[in-house]
Amino acid sequence: MAKYVYQFSEGNGKMRELLGGKGANLAEMTNLGMPVPYGFTVSTEACTRYYDDGKVIAPEIEKEIFEHLCKLEEKAGKKFGDVNNPLLVSVRSGARASMPGMMDTILNLGLNDEVVEGFAKLTNNDRFAYDSYRRFIQMFSDVVMELPKSNFEKIIDEMKEKKGVKLDTELDADDLKEMVKRFKAFYKEQKGTDFPCEPKDQLMEAVKAVFRSWDNPRAIYYRRMNDIPSDWGTAVNVQMMVFGNTGDTSGTGVAFSRNPSTGEKKLYGEFLMNAQGEDVVAGIRTPQSIDELKNIMPEIYDQFVGIVNKLEDHYRDMQDMEFTIENRKLYMLQTRNGKRTATAAINIAVDLVSEGMIDKKQAVLMIDPKQLDALLHPQFDAAAIKKAQPVGSALPASPGAACGKVVFSAEDAVAFSQKGDKVVLVRLETSPEDIEGMNHAEGILTVRGGMTSHAAVVARGMGTCCVAGCGDIVIDEEKKVFTLGGQTFHEGDFISLDGTTGKIYGEAIPTVPASLSGNFGTIMEWTDEFRKMGVRTNADTPRDAKQARKFGAEGIGLCRTEHMFFEGERIKAIREMICSKTVEQRKKALAKLLPMQRGDFEGIYEAMEGCPVTIRFLDPPLHEFVPHDEADIRALADEMGMKYEEVKATIDGLHEFNPMMGHRGCRLAVSYPEIAEMQTQAVIEAAINVQKKHADWKVVPEIMIPLVGEIKELQFVKKTVVTTADEIIKKSGVDLHYKVGTMIEIPRAALTADEIAKDAEFFSFGTNDLTQMTFGFSRDDAGHFLEYYYQNKIYESDPFAKLDQVGVGKLVQMAAKLGRETRPDIKLGICGEHGGDPSTIEFCYKTGLNYVSCSPFRVPIARLAAAQAAIKYDK
Ligand code: PEP
Ligand code: MG
Repeated sequence: MAKYVYQFSEGNGKMRELLGGKGANLAEMTNLGMPVPYGFTVSTEACTRYYDDGKVIAPEIEKEIFEHLCKLEEKAGKKFGDVNNPLLVSVRSGARASMPGMMDTILNLGLNDEVVEGFAKLTNNDRFAYDSYRRFIQMFSDVVMELPKSNFEKIIDEMKEKKGVKLDTELDADDLKEMVKRFKAFYKEQKGTDFPCEPKDQLMEAVKAVFRSWDNPRAIYYRRMNDIPSDWGTAVNVQMMVFGNTGDTSGTGVAFSRNPSTGEKKLYGEFLMNAQGEDVVAGIRTPQSIDELKNIMPEIYDQFVGIVNKLEDHYRDMQDMEFTIENRKLYMLQTRNGKRTATAAINIAVDLVSEGMIDKKQAVLMIDPKQLDALLHPQFDAAAIKKAQPVGSALPASPGAACGKVVFSAEDAVAFSQKGDKVVLVRLETSPEDIEGMNHAEGILTVRGGMTSHAAVVARGMGTCCVAGCGDIVIDEEKKVFTLGGQTFHEGDFISLDGTTGKIYGEAIPTVPASLSGNFGTIMEWTDEFRKMGVRTNADTPRDAKQARKFGAEGIGLCRTEHMFFEGERIKAIREMICSKTVEQRKKALAKLLPMQRGDFEGIYEAMEGCPVTIRFLDPPLHEFVPHDEADIRALADEMGMKYEEVKATIDGLHEFNPMMGHRGCRLAVSYPEIAEMQTQAVIEAAINVQKKHADWKVVPEIMIPLVGEIKELQFVKKTVVTTADEIIKKSGVDLHYKVGTMIEIPRAALTADEIAKDAEFFSFGTNDLTQMTFGFSRDDAGHFLEYYYQNKIYESDPFAKLDQVGVGKLVQMAAKLGRETRPDIKLGICGEHGGDPSTIEFCYKTGLNYVSCSPFRVPIARLAAAQAAIKYDK
């Protein structure tokens, strides 16, 4: 028969999946002989069963819970609901991965009007008994019955005011009795029924509430942010109460075995005498530093320090513990590996290695790659962000914190920033023309667009904070005004963005600059000792390439050449090229672009110091480059010696109903081979020039043809590339090798990868387009409706951020296998935005890719994630 409930003494620390983190650790501490109040855990399987059964607790599980309650009564020597010697319990959630703040704890469960009387007699302490009872009513109402705590706080405040006192502790037993009455009356008024007085009902309702909380919106959001699957479920811990609020010989506190902000090896924590756990966190009274305990109760302090050391030794990691002192007796209520800042994570990992507690592999595994973001980007001042209330939220498109004055155009961003103002650029969506303004902005906020939209991709590349796709914003870019969350913002008003959580604040919140801890380099060195897969970067400019090199990129996996076309005079030349009527005209315009593009490539080769560089040929639909304002069109017509109507007609003719599936990628080179010819010339000549300067480098250009779906497309464009390249190389006399490969970003390319590999020397998986085309979701519009998919648990995460391994991943695996069958030494990489996502990186490693490529600021994350994958899967 299935078993759903376990006494703490039946479990152990390895049973996290079944007992949740808290339950497993309580069991482990019990086994280590530590003073843990007796209790039992209702398993995560009971939770999944609760959902499978249509949100009911099956009778056999209920029966098992009550059997374990009997065992608990025997051990405790008290009885649940007994008037003379009552057992009170706490009920707390505990998932496999810790999810702080998902659900509050319920303490003092088992009290009712009769039991509280007996409890008061037994403890000879009326005040304590009624204080416990009022706390229970408050917590139970809040957590189980969804009557917010603040309602009750209001009653407490009224009573304190009436009595003319400031602290809860100044209320006496009679006051608390009165408070209980008022709480219950309020409950009845709100709920229409009496407060549940049967302890067994209270217990079952509390267990259900914990199970329910697994699916509250907060928890769903938290899981999505932290890659926690929804089918894990949470366990419930039922534990005998010990009391920190019996008087001055009792207290409660929380402590970390090392400082969770800095990692310093020193006990860190706080406690309150005569209090229950919530008082420490609630901030109503100011807790004392844990060091003070040494003076108040030296023997308890010593015992606690002994336990802390033993726990650190046992878990070999920094511990976060809760404890209670009841009448001078210490109890441990929880231990877990403590949450820590990125700086602390790095410092603790390095310290534990030098202390001989763990080895380098364990240190590398210990750090959450996503946490590194916090070291590489500015963050909000911790105290200020705690007080701030967001006015809205959207996609966390590029991490970091930004605070600045609102501007509505790229030009204004430049103008304001040149005056010395920090700005946040707010746009309906960004386009390549906005690049300079984006570069001057602290943060970027868009109304439309998903995780792979222009704003998201470019901001990540720059390391600039970006929140994308905030559909709740109503914006008028012309009038320079937007509204969100009931507030109106004009140009010059301050807003703040959190690109890590997607939250938007309608006020100025101070930021602190990124700071790399001294141990960061050490950890990065260790990752490279274990890493087997290469890490490249997506970079389009020498500046980004240099930044990525500093972060340890071993090459460029994607250089999007079109991003170079927007600076200065270049846009004019490309517009001329697009509006040309004849091949000759087009070639003339392309000739203007050639030296600029060659110069850029030289800069990139120099920055990459001989590492491989993959350059992708022109990809976006041409309408992205042309002007749409009448004045601009007239100016272009004048420059080209053409009629306005003629140029306007060409531009109108570029309109497509679905440009993402239109005239773009290699289709452009099929229509206009002279574009591929010019780009080949620029790539090869730049490579020759740089090779000549650096005899010790081996410059091997990799030319990548985008959006191929058919081998003949690739062959067609490749012919232009090879003919052009070979002729230039021959003339130069330099022994230059180059490669021609393709992106795999159209499902048909993945399906026919064995064919395509006959002509492609490398594949780079363009998982942005591959996701778009496999799902049939627009990468720019999906953000609008994906939220409903998360709410309805159809998808758990954004497929444009975390690769859909089941569907899109299957195409990647298939293409990798087929490609290698045709060409065993084919080089395989990924350059979609997923290349910087840790779970996707693990997948890429398992699939056997040679490298991942991601934006410069994600390179350290990718190095760490790739090392972790190698350690995990190479046992
Ligand atoms: C892709 O499609 O994954 C890709 C890298 O190309 P782009 O984002 O430029 O379309
Ligand atoms: Mg693409």
